Amino acid sequence: MAPTITSDLVKTTCAHCEREIPTSNIDLHYVHCSRNLQKCTICGDMVPTKLADEHYRESHAPIDCSLCGEAIEREAWTVHKGERCQQRMVTCEYCEFPLPAVDLLNHQEICGNRTEYCQICNKYVRLREQIAHENQFHSNWNGTAESSSDAQPIEREEDAHRRQPQNSPKRQILFTIAVTGIAVLIGSIFLQQGKEPEQ
Ligand SMILES: [Zn+2]
Ligand SMILES: [Zn+2]
Ligand SMILES: [Zn+2]
Ligand SMILES: [Zn+2]
Ligand SMILES: [Zn+2]
Repeated sequence: MAPTITSDLVKTTCAHCEREIPTSNIDLHYVHCSRNLQKCTICGDMVPTKLADEHYRESHAPIDCSLCGEAIEREAWTVHKGERCQQRMVTCEYCEFPLPAVDLLNHQEICGNRTEYCQICNKYVRLREQIAHENQFHSNWNGTAESSSDAQPIEREEDAHRRQPQNSPKRQILFTIAVTGIAVLIGSIFLQQGKEPEQ
C-alpha cells in the first residue's frame, strides 16, 4: 500500500525568505513574504519591513555609553562597561573610595603613599607597601582592624565559621532532641518488655 502524500508534505523553498513552505501555500506566502518581510543584512533574520529600523537599533546599533558618551559596538559592550570605560566607577584599593577609572592611577599614586603606623614594628608603613610588609614580617599575625589587606577579612570569616559549630545554639538544640529521642526510645522498649509477661 503506497502512502498517500498529502499536499502539506510537499514543500517549496520561498525565494524570498528561503524557508520551506507547503507548496499549496507558496504563492500566497510569497506575496505576503516579499511585501512585508526583509532579510536583516547583519544577522540574516527575516524582519518585518516596518520594524527593520527598530530591529537594527535594538539588535545591532552601537550602544551610546551613558558614562563616557562614546558609541560602543555591541560585541565590545560588556568589556567596555566592565573594564574599558574610563568613566566607569572603580574603587581605590587603599581607601576604598569610589571614583572614575580615569582618575584611579593618579589617586592611588597619592593615596598609596599615605602611611599607617605598624604597632608591631613601631614604624610607619606606606599603604602601597602594607600587604608586602605584612607578608614579609607578620605572615602569622592575626591582625586587628588596622589591616587593609584583602586576605585578612576572609581569614577572619573562615575562623568565625570554624568556631561557630561548637557554640552554635542550633547544634545544642539538635543534640537535646537527639538525646530526648533516644531516651524515649529506650523508655518504650522497657515499657514493652514490662508489658510482655502480662499478655
Ligand atoms: Zn518567504
Ligand atoms: Zn539583524
Ligand atoms: Zn563608556
Ligand atoms: Zn584612595
Ligand atoms: Zn610591621
